[in-house]
Amino acid sequence: MVNTLRMFENEIIIIGGGLSGLTAAYLLAKQGKSVLVIEKKAYPFHRVCGEYVSNEVRDFLIKEGLFPFEHYPASINHFRLSAVNGDVADFPLELGGFGISRFVLDHHFFQKCREVGVRFLQKTQATNVRFLPEKRHFLIETSDGSLLPASYVLAAYGKRSKIDKQLNRGFVRQKSPYIGVKYHIEIEGQNENMVALHNYNGGYLGINKVENGQFNLCYLGSRTQLRDSGSIGAMEEKHLYANPHIREIFEKAHFLWDRPEVINEISFATKKPVENNMLMLGDAAGMITPLCGNGMAIAIHTGKLAADAFLQHSRLEDLQRAYQETWKNFFYSRLRLGRNVQRLFGAPLVSSLAVNVLKKSSFLSRKIIRQTHGLPIQ
Ligand SMILES: Cc1cc2nc3c(=O)[nH]c(=O)nc-3n(C[C@H](O)[C@H](O)[C@H](O)COP(=O)(O)OP(=O)(O)OC[C@H]3O[C@@H](n4cnc5c(N)ncnc54)[C@H](O)[C@@H]3O)c2cc1C
Repeated sequence: MVNTLRMFENEIIIIGGGLSGLTAAYLLAKQGKSVLVIEKKAYPFHRVCGEYVSNEVRDFLIKEGLFPFEHYPASINHFRLSAVNGDVADFPLELGGFGISRFVLDHHFFQKCREVGVRFLQKTQATNVRFLPEKRHFLIETSDGSLLPASYVLAAYGKRSKIDKQLNRGFVRQKSPYIGVKYHIEIEGQNENMVALHNYNGGYLGINKVENGQFNLCYLGSRTQLRDSGSIGAMEEKHLYANPHIREIFEKAHFLWDRPEVINEISFATKKPVENNMLMLGDAAGMITPLCGNGMAIAIHTGKLAADAFLQHSRLEDLQRAYQETWKNFFYSRLRLGRNVQRLFGAPLVSSLAVNVLKKSSFLSRKIIRQTHGLPIQ
């Protein structure tokens, strides 16, 4: 039940304070805009993610004063891929990346946003967005019963939200076959500059260092395997341990949490970058498969593109057109390639074939890594 109409007109409301929403909020506030972010959780918090950030955004983050130097992210320049049977291929990562937990990184962005005047409604969920064409503004209903007016709305609420149902987006009608599981661990003898991706029959698991000597252990798994196994632990022993590298990691690891973070409803379906007159950012516009390791970089980049569009346009139609065009140029084919590469993973025969082909062809492996990644942004 809507019980409040907050009379203060927000120029820009951003729904969702992950990396895409926070980047846009920060840059728009620096342009002098009045920005309110609605975030359903309260910072800092953990979220399921491999926590390897591609260096394509490194220079941009440094230039904007957003790079988290003070948290000493791990520097990553080596990639290891293993097949279900344990075969291994190793590659240098030309561009590389850095490892940092979302607990720290998102909180760091949040604090930077506050410094430039972004306002936040935390522990609040946007439940409905209406665009009123005659008034040319939006009304957002929230879980605390408020009704918030705004001239522009950026939807940065991640892979799936209540608003997607309201918009009747196609992918919400399909059940996703995936789950995501994440731990933080301490482990001896693991290469600190490497991101490794280990296949198992049903999914793949990534491991890389983050801050404070900890490692992130995260996998994209199968919902059916979890249901049939009855518990996360039973599923890991039955399916993940078949890859000897995964078994060794689990046996050596010191697990830092009582239980992992778990999510479901992960969809790599095609989405649109503009819906209901809102600019869609990050995963809300389309999610790249995690094995590409650059969903966070794309999220940050979409936040930048949205803020750039506001530098040139103020008419809603012009903003939408400019954002839509640049989004398609940068991301459409990368997301499609990610979906195709995903098919090579999580099955014994195909993953072993892929590892062996990539091991023999440094040209092919470089090409795939380059094309799923973007060029550095400034
Ligand atoms: C298993 C797995 C591993 C991954 N590993 C990596 C990796 O190693 N490297 C990488 O670059 N990417 C990785 N990704 C992808 C990466 O996590 C996402 O692409 C990235 O987080 C997208 O950022 P975002 O800002 O779009 O959304 P999010 O970071 O998901 O943020 C969305 C925010 O919106 C909030 N929200 C949602 N609905 C509402 C609402 N109605 N009202 C208010 N707030 C709302 C949420 O609480 C959340 O804080 C991985 C993904 C998965 C599933």
